[in-house]
Amino acid sequence: MLKAILFDISGVLHVDKQPIPGAVELIAKLRQQTVPIRFVTNTSRSTSAAILHSLNKMGFIVEQADIFSAPVAVKQVCEQRGLRPYCLIHPELEAEFASLNQQNPNAVVLADAAERFDYEHLNKAFSLLINGAPLLGIGRNRYFKTGGKLQLDAGPFIQALEYAADTEAEILGKPAAGFFHAAVDSLGCKPEEVLMIGDDVEADINGAMEAGLQACLVRTGKYLPGDENKAGQAFVAESVVEAVNSVFFQSASLV
Ligand SMILES: [Mg+2]
Repeated sequence: MLKAILFDISGVLHVDKQPIPGAVELIAKLRQQTVPIRFVTNTSRSTSAAILHSLNKMGFIVEQADIFSAPVAVKQVCEQRGLRPYCLIHPELEAEFASLNQQNPNAVVLADAAERFDYEHLNKAFSLLINGAPLLGIGRNRYFKTGGKLQLDAGPFIQALEYAADTEAEILGKPAAGFFHAAVDSLGCKPEEVLMIGDDVEADINGAMEAGLQACLVRTGKYLPGDENKAGQAFVAESVVEAVNSVFFQSASLV
């Protein structure tokens, strides 16, 4: 029986800051019914504080503690391990890592850095990696969608650096099981009691299912026709509204 829900944010709750029709009311209804929910995102062009502000501005009832962001997970690992990262990240994300010592780096953190993915920055990351620094990644997302267009995400650049330095990144956001389990633990549930709703078939759907959760792919955001064929036993819904009403509540009422 499903008891709680994890939501991806971009492409599921909103597209380009326009809420998916019915999504704001849906979250309000779940809050009213005290269904345990969390939000799990690999978004790395803004801080978790900015993500919260943006969601609230769109009308979503969300608090900071409800948001599990991949950059925050990476920052926590840097703190725990005493790493001084070279951060190849977007300027808008710098504030998230500002409290870390980044002098004389002994690690590389890579997120979606947009225009900073140039030869100079990538080569600096490479020079650290080839000398043994670990590579920490937000996710392996191949692309994201904004302004109606698919755009390169961090995944292709992580793979390029792994190839060049003959190393393997440690991924700390989706699809890493540890990331899903941290959110599931905060809900006080077992993985199989939690439904992950996402638009990224690899990071959201297959990642969640490998971590023992149930998952529902939505046909909004970055969804491309045929993605359901890569989604294994996952549920498929037109939107987050259908995912909650037809999958989550159906399952919850079956038992
Ligand atoms: Mg998404």
